[in-house]
Amino acid sequence: MKFAIFGDIHANLEALQAVLWDAHEQGCSHHVCLGDIVGYAANPSECLELVRQLNCPTVRGNHDEGAAGESALEELNPLAQSALLWTREQLSAEQRQWLRELKLVRQVRDFTIVHATLDSPGSWGYVTNRFDAMASFSYQFTQVCFYGHTHVPRIFEKQESVRAERGTEVTLQRGVKYFVNVGSVGQPRDGDWRASYAIYDLQAQSIIIRRVRYDVEAAQAKILAAGLPSLLAERLLLGK
Ligand code: ZN
Repeated sequence: MKFAIFGDIHANLEALQAVLWDAHEQGCSHHVCLGDIVGYAANPSECLELVRQLNCPTVRGNHDEGAAGESALEELNPLAQSALLWTREQLSAEQRQWLRELKLVRQVRDFTIVHATLDSPGSWGYVTNRFDAMASFSYQFTQVCFYGHTHVPRIFEKQESVRAERGTEVTLQRGVKYFVNVGSVGQPRDGDWRASYAIYDLQAQSIIIRRVRYDVEAAQAKILAAGLPSLLAERLLLGK
């Protein structure tokens, strides 16, 4: 059984469709969504409906929360703020309610999923180094946990100490825990513009981060046509 595990879609429909197609070609039969379905790009409603059709375990991200709520979003940067105010207008009350009801942490079979951190999932901190990972590992009760939020794919391993693997592929070993950032579907920030997601193969006990090309020009054109900040279009091709 192969799981396609993806998140940080950020309303980029072209990237989401490319990832789902690639996952299908790779033989994935199950899906998991790590949140931030909306925010930044031009197709929040379409992305939400596509994820909802998959009927898969999904957790809430900070942009989902921002789009679902009524708050002034002062804690977010100006780009995220303006995109979320626009996003609220694109979503129906029912769609926003669906986002609001998503859980912050879930267990799926033998693994855990969360958007940001396990130690304080609703505070939206970032796990970028071994010390951040250590805090999450203390609340990780399954061998594997998948997360997102930083938009940078990364595999942390914990045996006696925490190590950050640079590779994009790992075979699970007994007695070792894994905290795996699957990267971002719709707005990668590791300098590679291609959509990022992970495949967890339960039989092979392996996790692979995959990168997928998509029609980035189409996604950029839609962002500009929607009147969203042009920087949101430009950054897609920069991968940051
Ligand atoms: Zn995000």
